[in-house]
Amino acid sequence: MKVFVLDNGKLDLDLAWLLLNPHTGTVDNPNPPAEWVTIPTYTVLIEHPTLGWVLYDATCHPEWDRRWPEALRPVFPYRATDNQLLPAQLDQLGLRMRDIDIVVISHLHVDHCGCLDFFRGTKAGSRGIIVHEDELSHALKVTHVGPLDFAGAYAKVEFELPNLNYDLMMGSHLELAPDLHLYHWPGHTPGLIGMVAHTQHSGTFIFTSDAIYLERNLKEWRLSGIVYDSVAYFRSMYAIKQLSRKYEATLGYGHDLEAFTRLKKAPEYYE
Ligand SMILES: [Zn+2]
Repeated sequence: MKVFVLDNGKLDLDLAWLLLNPHTGTVDNPNPPAEWVTIPTYTVLIEHPTLGWVLYDATCHPEWDRRWPEALRPVFPYRATDNQLLPAQLDQLGLRMRDIDIVVISHLHVDHCGCLDFFRGTKAGSRGIIVHEDELSHALKVTHVGPLDFAGAYAKVEFELPNLNYDLMMGSHLELAPDLHLYHWPGHTPGLIGMVAHTQHSGTFIFTSDAIYLERNLKEWRLSGIVYDSVAYFRSMYAIKQLSRKYEATLGYGHDLEAFTRLKKAPEYYE
């Protein structure tokens, strides 16, 4: 099995989304300024001897500035070079969307499912994109009850697509292969899926997606600013911590720039 980490560019946003209340006001400093930070967005591609090509997550759509709800665009604007867009990252490995066998989406926020649009009618899209049943039902619910086509970071336009099926993960664990596992780690959203890859020579990798945004959330045991269920959030972080100890794993956090910088990027890979 080969594990490729694809660099899909950056998002800029207020640190308070990632770390709850990072700068508390005090009587001496009642209005501390927001801290504007830059974070990576990435996808993971697996070349597997029995499963074929497996893609974990789908970053932002290249035309995000036309597709995203107007209210979201200035809150966490996306920027990427032409080469960082997902189709181009696959292209540099000689792949097209239609070559991908299985797509797993960690959760349906716009910066994790944006390129699903490109999988309409492909074998992965016909087979069914793997999402957790709790995620799809939540995303559909929150985007269909209000006056708008989006709610929070969920936007209908990015996941409710013609010629695209879903293959719903149920329960807490799914073994795709003996060396490739999916886990249900709710908290950030109801149906967040993490991926654990056991490589032959480079050890175990745990891709947490937004179950843990930053290494700081884990090290300082801190809540992020976007949480659906805070009790589940800490349970999931605890489960990830135990797994990472058990396997002495390398952690791929949702959006930690420093930890991301330490990872090898495609076309290099782990195996
Ligand atoms: Zn998210």
